[in-house]
Amino acid sequence: MNRRNEKQPERLKDNPPWESVSPGDWQDWRWQMRNRITSVAQLQSLIELTAEETAGLEECLRRFRMAVTPYYASLMDRANRKCPIRKQAVPDVSELEENEGDMQDPLHEDVDSPTPGVTHRYPDRVLFMVTDQCAMYCRHCTRRRTAGTHDRPLPPTQIERALGYIAGNRQVRDVVVSGGDPLTLGNDRLEYILKRLRNINHVEIIRIGTRTPVVLPQRITEDLCRMLKKYHPLYLNTHFNHPREITPEAAEACGRLADAGIALGNQSVLLRGVNDCPHIMHALVKKLLRVRVRPYYLYQCDMSRGIGHFRTGVGRGIEILESLRGHTSGLGIPTYVIDAPGGGGKIPVNPQYVVSRSDHKLILRNFEGRLFAYTEPEQSRSECHKCTDCSKCPENAREGVAGMFAGKTPVRKARRVKTDSPRQVSSR
Ligand code: SF4
Repeated sequence: MNRRNEKQPERLKDNPPWESVSPGDWQDWRWQMRNRITSVAQLQSLIELTAEETAGLEECLRRFRMAVTPYYASLMDRANRKCPIRKQAVPDVSELEENEGDMQDPLHEDVDSPTPGVTHRYPDRVLFMVTDQCAMYCRHCTRRRTAGTHDRPLPPTQIERALGYIAGNRQVRDVVVSGGDPLTLGNDRLEYILKRLRNINHVEIIRIGTRTPVVLPQRITEDLCRMLKKYHPLYLNTHFNHPREITPEAAEACGRLADAGIALGNQSVLLRGVNDCPHIMHALVKKLLRVRVRPYYLYQCDMSRGIGHFRTGVGRGIEILESLRGHTSGLGIPTYVIDAPGGGGKIPVNPQYVVSRSDHKLILRNFEGRLFAYTEPEQSRSECHKCTDCSKCPENAREGVAGMFAGKTPVRKARRVKTDSPRQVSSR
């Protein structure tokens, strides 16, 4: 166990629940996991709650799980109901409301699952959910139908079946190890999975999706980083939603991962009352770049049941993107996407910059609203589709709209992913 920073953070001083916790315990991720806040009584000792809020909370907890690490809870504002940290951690009675279009599994992760723990939608990549446990159960979680159901890792037999599925499908070159949160597994168990994946020749890259740098930065120990760096090329996407989440502890955790050569990306979710503000997003992306995390996606909030109160209009996201492009480095601008309900995958919904076009001119507008004409060359026809690289290109690379440019007819029905094993998976 590494305990690099044995100092107690300032905010814990004079904070009754934790002022007596030793720095060693506080820095120990397993202590943080064991001492997660899971009951209304524990919450009452941390934040001010009205009788009405308490009743709502109790009702929520009958349907949805709550767990908050002491670390993340220590960032909450005791008195402010609108605190963005509190909103992501503490259940709200609105979670019990049904909203138009709410779905149990909007992304069809279960529909596209050939074996428990695996979602295979795109031909060359799979999602491998190795546990349903998370350090914190985020109130806006799109996977709330599964996250925390058992609060433990996938059983070994299912892990083996999932690894067998990936090994048997040679077109899978990219595996996203997710959950739940895969970094709630101990190093040995996680290393077993990474080693097995790395031994599959056709798996080129491994990506880890984890919120621990945000809600449990103590998990990012030197031991963990030493283990992870054996399995490059390895990417890690995390999930900061608000600049206040980038604390010195979180920054240190990201620094350790980056020092291990792991490319870091961030996937934020646009959340009403948390970060649906151009100034907050601007501050977030700038702070992310300072801690060596590249803003990757900004997700429109999904249509999962119980999170409708977090959803904003799509226009809010577009306005936020307008406030970023041209106003900060391009490196800090995430792609704004809707993960299409029904398993349609991620669809970018960014602002439009092409205002009009003729057969040889494009009229573009920049971030200030000024118009510019770009003249296309007289001889602009590309020889590309006839080149040798194109003719050798695997068939999959030119499906959908890209395939139409190459003269193929569009796919009209749900297609099947070709597999090397008898099991077939629908890919929408
Ligand atoms: S860490 Fe991710 S999977 Fe877990 S509850 Fe939060 S958003 Fe959901």
